[in-house]
Amino acid sequence: MKYCRFMSNGKPQWGLVEESQGELVGELVIVAATDSPEQDFANVCAIPPLPLSQAELLAPVQPGKIICVGRNYRDHAKELGNDVPLEPLLFWKPVSSLLAPGGVVRMPRASERVDFEGEIALVIGKRARWLSADQNLSEYVHGFTLANDVTARDLQKKDGQWTRAKGFDTFCPVGPLVDTSITLDRVASGITLETRVNGDLRQHGSTADFIFSLPHLLEYITAAITLEPGDLLLTGTPAGVGPLAAGDRVEVSAEGLGVLSNPFAPEEN
Ligand code: MG
Repeated sequence: MKYCRFMSNGKPQWGLVEESQGELVGELVIVAATDSPEQDFANVCAIPPLPLSQAELLAPVQPGKIICVGRNYRDHAKELGNDVPLEPLLFWKPVSSLLAPGGVVRMPRASERVDFEGEIALVIGKRARWLSADQNLSEYVHGFTLANDVTARDLQKKDGQWTRAKGFDTFCPVGPLVDTSITLDRVASGITLETRVNGDLRQHGSTADFIFSLPHLLEYITAAITLEPGDLLLTGTPAGVGPLAAGDRVEVSAEGLGVLSNPFAPEEN
């Protein structure tokens, strides 16, 4: 199942997303809406198909926490002159950094270099602590979505700690949908992830190239931290990251997950 969250008649709703029929072949459309993601979409009235690109989308997740993995693709670690990590490198983004698909990323005056990082994100499905990479982890995986781990690269180096550089308001666009049919095995076998800036292809990677697999990451994280349903795990970015200018538009895409598109503009106030 693929679903999104969107504004309908001034109210946030959850929408079932399907490939459209007839004239809109190939386009992802919202075909049903509910008041809660737990409600069965089969039990609600269908709505006239609304193209995803025309919907006023909200972030399709409401996580209690956003955990991120740094340098989880060998070629990306090398491009920034870093060693390939021997253990997962974890950091947080605050939930206040969440941004809807299509929302404007505000480039802070405090930074002279704001980078995009296209990523696949795992949505946790069940409370988890002390998981083992060897056990069946499917019940802990609710689904997958796309994210942009926007980073003030100069502040990341200057501060040492990454909290500010990764944590500005609007620095975590997520969406446009959650796909609950993608499995850990599917991710391990390789999902192609691409990032475009103003239409130019800048990142082209595969999740088959993760340094640390998702089962390994879930074991490592839950040895320290309890994960709750809805929590988000950003899984790292492939090579090709780079600086942005005001007016740029970044599109992160992957097979089955649609396109996460956000414009960048100067900070207000
Ligand atoms: Mg990242």
